Amino acid sequence: MDADVVIVGAGPVGMLLAAELALAGTHPLVLERLPAPADQPKARGLGVLATEALRRRGLGAALDEEHEKGLAALERDHGTTRTHFAWIHKVDPEAADPGRRGALIAQPALERLLRERLRDHGVEIRYGWTVTGCSEATDGVRLDVDTPAGPRRVDAGYVAGCDGGHSVVRKLSGFDFPGTDPLMTVRYAHAEVGNRSELPPPGRLPGGTLFHEDGLIAAFDFGDTVPDRSGPLSADEVRASVRRVAGVDVELGEFHGGLRFSDGARQAASYRRGRVLLAGDAAHVHSPNGGQGLNLGLMDAMNLGWKLAATIRGDAPAGLLDTYSAERHPAGAAVLHNTRAQSALLAPGPHVDALRDIVGDLLDLPEVNRYVSRLLSGVAQRYELPYPAGHPAAGLHCPPLIIDGSPLERLTTGGETLLLHPGAKDITTPLRVRALTVTTINDNRFGALLLRPDGVVAWAAAPGEEAPHLRSALEAW
Ligand SMILES: Cc1cc2nc3c(=O)[nH]c(=O)nc-3n(C[C@H](O)[C@H](O)[C@H](O)COP(=O)(O)OP(=O)(O)OC[C@H]3O[C@@H](n4cnc5c(N)ncnc54)[C@H](O)[C@@H]3O)c2cc1C
Repeated sequence: MDADVVIVGAGPVGMLLAAELALAGTHPLVLERLPAPADQPKARGLGVLATEALRRRGLGAALDEEHEKGLAALERDHGTTRTHFAWIHKVDPEAADPGRRGALIAQPALERLLRERLRDHGVEIRYGWTVTGCSEATDGVRLDVDTPAGPRRVDAGYVAGCDGGHSVVRKLSGFDFPGTDPLMTVRYAHAEVGNRSELPPPGRLPGGTLFHEDGLIAAFDFGDTVPDRSGPLSADEVRASVRRVAGVDVELGEFHGGLRFSDGARQAASYRRGRVLLAGDAAHVHSPNGGQGLNLGLMDAMNLGWKLAATIRGDAPAGLLDTYSAERHPAGAAVLHNTRAQSALLAPGPHVDALRDIVGDLLDLPEVNRYVSRLLSGVAQRYELPYPAGHPAAGLHCPPLIIDGSPLERLTTGGETLLLHPGAKDITTPLRVRALTVTTINDNRFGALLLRPDGVVAWAAAPGEEAPHLRSALEAW
């Protein structure tokens, strides 16, 4: 056996999953087809849940530093620090749950942080290793891999496909991937535009939406939805798309490449088939509108890491690993749902123009703004618990708390299940639970709580109240 878990893909999701598995005492190995890390700019920020998860692992200071730079860049590019729904930049990201916030960090900077974390944990990433075959073997999974030194076979107890939207692991392992075809294709190019004065101002046009600024042009094209995706984006393809969207023949100076993506929305029917698991874009694809993909994938990794590690160590309660798909599939489906709504709101034409005006006005109402902010952040996404919840926060991700005068995140860097209870020393459990006797939790909702390694409130009691089901919660997780 080469590793407990082979993770295919050293994107942000694969790296976070590897870090979580190592933290929980197992041996992951990461295989990445690229010869070296790529600095492709994609996401520019993390949502509330992923930010809080990384803070709970001690990355808060690094995120804060990047956030300041990100705020300045957002203000410069969009004239506001509000986030958007279908490019209506009115959503207050802090309206979802006041006091909780995401972090603006460019995806390459986040990936650097995660690489450093893997180095600290002694986890190896093998670059230039492309997985081409995947089959279940006795007690494990066998992978065929093209490596710089020729073909190799790699054996692992489990395989996690974190290999992005075109996931080879997903295809080779027979996962169903139902969903909807794209309505639009976005082409995003780094190039100087020679005749920018001839372009209409950035915004909605008869064929879609156009954005341009110094060194960048992007066309949201509703007239060409099934492009040949086999090659890299070319200047000719961008010119043709701008012509369809804006009716202008754009002159492109030096072309520095770019990205092509669509709003096709698909999701694996289940995230587990035997010993093969999917996480991140490999499990779900959708348009980047509203900036949710990275957050969603990182939270897959947080949910899967401790469950898979416990299964490998042999101390997982029966069925624990199956709760990964059961909990994360609805979270993914909710994101696909709202990105489809955003695509509908981006379609060209006077009817959608009218609808956008109304949605824009509605977003000025605080309750509506809060509703959309909650949709995009996922903070209201509650996991079903196999016992009566008994407390409004049970099944939700825990907000930041101050525990006996210290931030919660100081207690969670080790990744254990955490029991915070005034009588913790009297509660016995054979499980790997770190039990701490607390006197104060700075939030008047909580007098005691049981926190899973992924930050989910598994059980809680209001101050001064005896809530039942603590024993059931300890046994379930
Ligand atoms: C333009 C753009 C803007 C975006 N903006 C946002 C945003 O603002 N907010 C947000 O949350 N999300 C955003 N996203 C989405 C976000 O970038 C993705 O959701 C995120 O990168 C998914 O991470 P991942 O690790 O699942 O997959 P990826 O980042 O795609 O990583 C997969 C890795 O697997 C490797 N791989 C693939 N096949 C193999 C193989 N056969 N063998 C070995 N390795 C393999 C790849 O080389 C790659 O390194 C944006 C995406 C785009 C394109």
